Amino acid sequence: MPITVVGSIAYDAVKTPFGERERMLGGAAVHFALAASFFEQVRVVGPVGDDFGEPELQVLRDREIDVSDVERVAGGKTFFWRGEYGWDLNSRETLDTKLGVFEGFAPKLSPASRSSEVLFLANIQPDLQREVRAQLPDARFVALDSMNLWIDIARESLVEAIKLCDCVILNDAELRQLTGQPNLLSAARDVLSWAPPSSEAGGVRGGGEVGGPQVIVAKQGEYGAALITRESFFALPAFPLESVVDPTGAGDSFAGGFVGYIAARLGSEQLSDELLRAAMAHGTALASFNVEEFGTERVVRLTDEEIAARVQELREITRLSC
Ligand code: AMP
Repeated sequence: MPITVVGSIAYDAVKTPFGERERMLGGAAVHFALAASFFEQVRVVGPVGDDFGEPELQVLRDREIDVSDVERVAGGKTFFWRGEYGWDLNSRETLDTKLGVFEGFAPKLSPASRSSEVLFLANIQPDLQREVRAQLPDARFVALDSMNLWIDIARESLVEAIKLCDCVILNDAELRQLTGQPNLLSAARDVLSWAPPSSEAGGVRGGGEVGGPQVIVAKQGEYGAALITRESFFALPAFPLESVVDPTGAGDSFAGGFVGYIAARLGSEQLSDELLRAAMAHGTALASFNVEEFGTERVVRLTDEEIAARVQELREITRLSC
């Protein structure tokens, strides 16, 4: 099932203890799309300025990502983000965010982007996430990511957006901040109880169900990610790496692997616990490749075989024989 993603398409300036890049391709939608493209057809929706280069667009085309809804805004500047990491790569400081063309952006989706059965609302202003959600009323699986900035300045809109989704993928600190619950499980249970105002959202829910989010993924940086549904709990460590160079985009690459894997199977399978766990492994694998080099540098050279081998290693690492 093809996936539509809306989110930032960016130039990033990043400094880590292992080097720096002053202007590289980034953005939540870009990292997501590259990762998901290993599993399914992806269509990217979002604006860029006329400073956005053709080679950057080609990076997406090379992975057969549909960029026809990447809107070039004449006279506009591409979204720009600057961040810096200390020795603890788990924490980063945002030094600059320039929304550029995202200010005043009104998403207009082509019939192709509206026809996707899977939708990922990557990290961007929640009002925009809701506008895009409204244009895919019949999507079968809708997932959403966000960040502390939007919880701080647009919480109400974000909560409304979440109510219209099947799956929420957030850092665990953001889940606690969003719900005011200091305990991760309680925070996830809170979000799982949020229901849409009416039967607005279709999704994978069957008739008679309450609706609202039914899958929560809590990202925990180098410690991995946890999966919480109404019935179950599952957790995976991050893939152990000796060298992490740049964590930027790890969360979006995780989401791309996770949602991409689900999208490739939802046509023939139910959204079972087994499917969700396998998706967690693929998200974890994609995130681990992403952090090995700066920005998109590693993922653009990645192969299906490398992904399969890393998922196999994850099986070994997490094997229990008791
Ligand atoms: P991640 O490391 O997965 O959380 O995502 C990093 C990406 O998010 C970078 O490539 C940035 O361009 C993008 N980003 C940072 N801040 C924002 C924001 N406020 N809105 C949308 N995208 C952002």
